[in-house]
Amino acid sequence: MFSNPTILELNEKFRPVWALASSGSLLDWDLEVNMPEAASTSRGVTMSQLTLLRQKHFSELYPLLEKAERITDLNDYENGLVRVLQRSRKYFTKIPPSLLEEEQRTSVEATVVWRQARSKSDFKLFKPYFEKVVALKIQIAEKLGFEKHPYNALLDLGEEGITVDDLDLTFSRLIPGLKKILRKVMAESRFPPNHPLEDVKYDVESMDRVNRKVIELLEMPKDRFRMDVSTHPFTSNTSRDDVRITTRYEGVDFRNTMYSTIHESGHAIYELQIDEAMDYTQLANGASMGFHESQSRFWENIIGRSREFAILIRPALKENLSFVSPYDEEELYKYFNLVRPGLIRVDADELTYNFHIALRYELEKKLIGGKLAVSELPSIWNDMMDEYFGIRPKNDAEGVLQDIHWTASFGYFPSYSLGNVISGMIWNKMRKDLNLAELTLKGEFGPIKEWLYDKIHHWGSTYAPKDLSRRSLGEGYNPDYLLEYLEQKFSG
Ligand code: MG
Repeated sequence: MFSNPTILELNEKFRPVWALASSGSLLDWDLEVNMPEAASTSRGVTMSQLTLLRQKHFSELYPLLEKAERITDLNDYENGLVRVLQRSRKYFTKIPPSLLEEEQRTSVEATVVWRQARSKSDFKLFKPYFEKVVALKIQIAEKLGFEKHPYNALLDLGEEGITVDDLDLTFSRLIPGLKKILRKVMAESRFPPNHPLEDVKYDVESMDRVNRKVIELLEMPKDRFRMDVSTHPFTSNTSRDDVRITTRYEGVDFRNTMYSTIHESGHAIYELQIDEAMDYTQLANGASMGFHESQSRFWENIIGRSREFAILIRPALKENLSFVSPYDEEELYKYFNLVRPGLIRVDADELTYNFHIALRYELEKKLIGGKLAVSELPSIWNDMMDEYFGIRPKNDAEGVLQDIHWTASFGYFPSYSLGNVISGMIWNKMRKDLNLAELTLKGEFGPIKEWLYDKIHHWGSTYAPKDLSRRSLGEGYNPDYLLEYLEQKFSG
């Protein structure tokens, strides 16, 4: 994979940077899973100091990177490595250390305040921190530089090369297509809006056994993977051999925790299947946030919400959750696929999910473009929910305060819709090679994982996401396949 001497030297010098990033990711995991609340300030200092150290060590790579940039006969992996290192160099050299440090510190503080604000359902508590985060993000966009729109600079951080123009085009095709399918599905009654199982309380220990069964079915490697509990489920990779997910237990409506578990497992499978030869290098990451979300959404929706998966998982559900017994596979399938425009993004069904993202995309674009003040956000949020779904949040917790993202990141939300779009492209391509229904019914996920390894996972971030899409999926981001999949599933 790597043979050029300059590249080998570059990878060797990169190790301390990798070690610092790996430590940071473990501390991030700890912050969500274990850390006592009062430690937020000191943890903020630790994290920001680690970031500064990482920046310092990274800057020691520059002479070698410049040397590597002049080499003309690098292979694809080596060129990819130079590309991703250039991206980090741009980030670290254009953003002054003081701004980076302030951003880190603010986001840790904001996370704690967001948690309090959400539990009290009071946006006013979070507002000053949110204003600070937005102001810092605008400064960062200005430092990074951009064409046309400052939001492009932030989008590029998570989704290399994607722009407001790309996303405007994607959503302009996706949203009307979804509206059409949604209208049709709601007029029929095959996918009902409610189910009695939604109100049934479960015992957390019993549900934990179901989730453990789910990760066993997905063949998550016991010695390289673990699952814990946090408020907002996430995946963390400390190294390729230490990939962790979290799930959440709300005590009612067991779909939510089960699909969180499958979703995060999808992210984890990606990390676990990156080529071993990329260990400790900058290539050992997913191609982009969108590609990452395509993996989680593929497992959660295309596999996990299929009729065959309902059949596969029913015995484990019956065994651990006695209240499931009266419901047959068809009933479970309906319960897993209720179609109901609702207020909460993470609980949204496949048909309404992207409306939540379109809303957040429009708001982020306006906030970063200076076209919207933070104080106007709750009321504009509520108006947009009304416009899309005809429902209004009763309070901030079920409106503008529901997501943790705005404590730290802008430009991440669109990746969820891109992820859905890419998962549709994967479905379209994979069904020509594999019988997804049959494999899911048997719980044989090996061939699916191999397919994903071959087309996407093992490359790490060798190719820029738009290039990987063209190379492995045959074209650039195209929402038509997602619409075709949804049309076939929900009204075919
Ligand atoms: Mg995710």
